[in-house]
Amino acid sequence: MPIFEFRCLQCGKLFEKLFLDQQAEIELKCPRCGADSLDRVISRANPVMGTKGKKTTLTTKSCSPGSSCMTLEVPGAGD
Ligand SMILES: [Zn+2]
Repeated sequence: MPIFEFRCLQCGKLFEKLFLDQQAEIELKCPRCGADSLDRVISRANPVMGTKGKKTTLTTKSCSPGSSCMTLEVPGAGD
């Protein structure tokens, strides 16, 4: 299961997000303060499995004026 770790830029809260689908529209926001200004934290050696080189793009729903939408490009595990 691909698990990504994020850090809230507002309050510094660290949290993990589990992505069940390879391509999914998800809502990413801080569980503590609700901010959508997040930093992707690379903490796992192998966060993505079974994608076989397919590039997965995760786009958050939380696109608001004044703040850029977050798009995550997740490279596959490779061949
Ligand atoms: Zn926060």
